[in-house]
Amino acid sequence: MIVLNLSCSNSHSFEGWFASLEEFQRQAVAQQVTCPHCNDVNITKLPAGSHVRRAVMEKSAVPASISDEAKVLAALEQLLNNSDNVGASFPEEARKIHYEETPARNIHGTASVAEVRSLLEEDIGVIPLPLRPRKGMH
Ligand SMILES: [Zn+2]
Repeated sequence: MIVLNLSCSNSHSFEGWFASLEEFQRQAVAQQVTCPHCNDVNITKLPAGSHVRRAVMEKSAVPASISDEAKVLAALEQLLNNSDNVGASFPEEARKIHYEETPARNIHGTASVAEVRSLLEEDIGVIPLPLRPRKGMH
């Protein structure tokens, strides 16, 4: 018996067991080999080893959720690097920028939940970040 990696015209791949390669070819020509997924009779033999390659590729693929999380963290990192750390005076600085008392710039810092809420009530755009402020900047 031999095992062949087969594919139908709808790109379903499956394994077929045959007495020999000649027996597969005879049955394929006679349209006696059917796809188990869609009963297609246009069956082609895949090169040996394609199963193995596909399995390896699927294993090394990074799950979407993890790569998305990494992207978000990278974006936050960039945001922090391109903004001034004003520390605890963040609410005050955010107000100054909003009311155009100081040139507009990106800032980040710390604020209490109450402070963030009152900033939002004044229509000042703040984004709470799930990161601890870093010390030693500016
Ligand atoms: Zn099929």
